[in-house]
Amino acid sequence: MDHLSTFQPPDLSDQRVLRVVAGLRPCRRGGLRLEPEPVGSKVVVHNYGHGGCGITLSMGTAIAAADLVDQCSSSSDPVAVLGAGIVGLTTARELALRGRRVRIYASKIGHETLSMLAGALFLPVGIDLEHPDIGKQRFRSILHTSKASLQKLDPLRFGVENLTVFEPAYAHDDERYFDNGTIDQPVLHDRLPIPGPPRCGHSFETLFIHTPMMLSALIEDLNDLDVQIVEQSFRDTEDLAKLDESVLINCTALGSRRLFHDQSIYPARGVLVHLEPQQLGYAIHDGFKYMFPRKDALILGGVFDENVWDETPDEQIAQDILTHHRRFFAV
Ligand SMILES: Cc1cc2nc3c(=O)[nH]c(=O)nc-3n(C[C@H](O)[C@H](O)[C@H](O)COP(=O)(O)OP(=O)(O)OC[C@H]3O[C@@H](n4cnc5c(N)ncnc54)[C@H](O)[C@@H]3O)c2cc1C
Repeated sequence: MDHLSTFQPPDLSDQRVLRVVAGLRPCRRGGLRLEPEPVGSKVVVHNYGHGGCGITLSMGTAIAAADLVDQCSSSSDPVAVLGAGIVGLTTARELALRGRRVRIYASKIGHETLSMLAGALFLPVGIDLEHPDIGKQRFRSILHTSKASLQKLDPLRFGVENLTVFEPAYAHDDERYFDNGTIDQPVLHDRLPIPGPPRCGHSFETLFIHTPMMLSALIEDLNDLDVQIVEQSFRDTEDLAKLDESVLINCTALGSRRLFHDQSIYPARGVLVHLEPQQLGYAIHDGFKYMFPRKDALILGGVFDENVWDETPDEQIAQDILTHHRRFFAV
């Protein structure tokens, strides 16, 4: 049966393009690393390896890391959080809410970090789905906690909402995205109710996080909780040894490769085209070719280029992304 499209098409004309951006997803063979390690006279609790789903996991890994800190130190010990992307900020907030004295050290802070680039959709993608290092059960529990915590945040201040995501039938999602109980199984449509040529596909509902709003709200909360954020770059563990705090939480993402000699870390470059914001009320997910309606920009993805360290926005890739999405909606 034919259904009329109930959603507006995006305007993908050249005049609407704001910028092209690129960033490196902090991936890790083995998946998340969440464990304490003695380093010299300090204890380092690692919290990195979030790959293509760090916004999705951040609130859950913050709680898991704070639990580890509670287990391996006394509640009066001050703690240092290394890194001020989404993972460092959520971890620092969780620790401060538990009454810990917290200071953050990072070379880049909040909106200057990679975390600013993400859309972000709540979906466990771009990570080793076998989770050999933490195990599937622990991963699922972190994912559940993360979703529940995101749902408890003030949606208007943190920019968290429910969103319908449409996928053409040929976009073959890994069924493990949905086998963890955090997102309902996709619903099949004979004809997707979106603009463009008639096509079958599926849809699912998930959370969408407007990352610039989330980062702003986290920094506001940290200010209110008296957490100091210090701009500082560390070259090696000798630099870390000079910190006053004896408990450190490592949220340096790709930075952990050099700082903690973890060779299993690798980047997966993403390139995005930002257009003027358009409040469409739906997202398209076609593998890493996606369209997200963030409040500050309509975001078109993308690529997942493993082991590419070059963060320069690539104009040819940007053109390919635009062409793909224009064809998708062309009638
Ligand atoms: C194009 C793209 C799209 C994405 N889409 C999504 C999505 O839809 N959903 C989702 O959940 N995720 C998405 N992601 C993934 C998500 O953005 C990342 O997993 C997440 O931002 C990682 O956060 P982080 O805090 O670990 O790292 P970062 O944001 O990179 O922060 C690392 C911090 O460590 C600091 N640091 C590093 N080294 C040092 C050092 N030596 N000294 C001092 N400080 C240091 C940095 O300055 C920074 O403060 C996307 C990523 C990209 C690139």
